[in-house]
Amino acid sequence: MPSTSLSGESNVSMAQAFRSTRVVTPQGLAPATVVVEGERITAVRAWADAPAAPDLRDYGDLVLLPGLVDSHVHINEPGRTDWEGFWTATRAAASGGVTTLVDMPLNCVPETIDAGALQAKRDAAEGQAWVDWAAWGGVVRGNADALPGLAAAGVPGFKCFLIHSGIDGFAWVDEADLRMALERLRGTGLPLLAHAEVGRPVDAATHRLTAAGANWRSYSTYLASRPDAAEVEAIAMLIRLAEEYAVPIHVVHLSSSHALPMLAEARARGVPITVETCAQYLHFGAEEIPDCATEYKCAPPIRSAANREALWGALADGLIDMATTDHSPCPPEMKRRGTGRYDEAWGGIASLGLALPVLWTGMCKRGIGIERIGEWMGAGPARLAGLIGRKGALAAGADADIVVFDPDAVWTATADDLHFRHKLSPYLGAELRGRVRETWLRGERVFSDDGFIGPRGRELVRA
Ligand SMILES: [Zn+2]
Repeated sequence: MPSTSLSGESNVSMAQAFRSTRVVTPQGLAPATVVVEGERITAVRAWADAPAAPDLRDYGDLVLLPGLVDSHVHINEPGRTDWEGFWTATRAAASGGVTTLVDMPLNCVPETIDAGALQAKRDAAEGQAWVDWAAWGGVVRGNADALPGLAAAGVPGFKCFLIHSGIDGFAWVDEADLRMALERLRGTGLPLLAHAEVGRPVDAATHRLTAAGANWRSYSTYLASRPDAAEVEAIAMLIRLAEEYAVPIHVVHLSSSHALPMLAEARARGVPITVETCAQYLHFGAEEIPDCATEYKCAPPIRSAANREALWGALADGLIDMATTDHSPCPPEMKRRGTGRYDEAWGGIASLGLALPVLWTGMCKRGIGIERIGEWMGAGPARLAGLIGRKGALAAGADADIVVFDPDAVWTATADDLHFRHKLSPYLGAELRGRVRETWLRGERVFSDDGFIGPRGRELVRA
């Protein structure tokens, strides 16, 4: 059996093996035995080929998945720890089979827009992480000269907004700002992630709705205020810039299916552009969102059921590369449940820990096999964050991050199932299929049905 050097990595040295008739590896779904030494997977073998010596854990026909990677999470610490924080966010992640979080550079104070702010985040995370994490740097108006310092400090890439972010300290950028940033990123291999809505169509629609006396307690008003055109226009610009600068650009949280044809055309031409969508766009449809239900507010918005089906199609076809949460909570009072006004409520959905059963519920309805989760929620986001080979796959050499998943469990989400700070989520009351039974991080169990076992996450710094 091959072995890996573990010196200085862990006090875990015991060999272990994880066996099931349904193991998701990069090759697909098959019976297999995953052999682990210390923190790493050393081999994936035939089911019957379990080594004699190691401690063998036989999970029967429960599904073994790679530890999931969520590359789009707002942890909000330091600075807005009353919104969320490392302790609560990473516990929620562990409960949902997510072993790596990549934090967005806004909502925290200071915003992660220079190397000093990144250090403040590292200090804040110390001893608090239940799973591994990394931090995106931010591109804002005027910080192009700070980008090389952030890259040298180990961020896996950068995030920007093309429209007001909701956070005054995280200024949106226009094409001129983007060009300055892309000059700095050219040749580094680091991706630029973009919130792909531009302001003009949103401002125009909002003005028109307000002038017409629209009811802002109605979801349809909010939806009309964030038209598809805002995404389409933004993505057209991003495709153009990705091609011109040959810098990988990643569209976060795609909501509008109207952008799919141009993305397909760009990809066919070899433009380095990748795309994610989020659990909420795959699960909900605008038609079913009640008035005043501001827990559903996010940007871009949840669109029609027909739009949702088009997103599923693009995910199944491989045009959409991955699914994340965009977990972005806030204190409940900021959701303005009292007035129910969508224009005044914070835009962000809290869902960390639920994405795997949410996706699986939708996959069962559409006849999609569990093995696709490996790419959509493992290898895809791991590749984006520069972690492929280490995270997101059950394969020799990768970290021994393993999820034990019961695909047949049917359950209803209650506040007791939410482990993030504020128990407000549009998924409360949702009937979901599939349940995480155990989560293993680098060879140690961090979560099981019986509870949490210990915070042992660490930062994954890009080498
Ligand atoms: Zn976000």
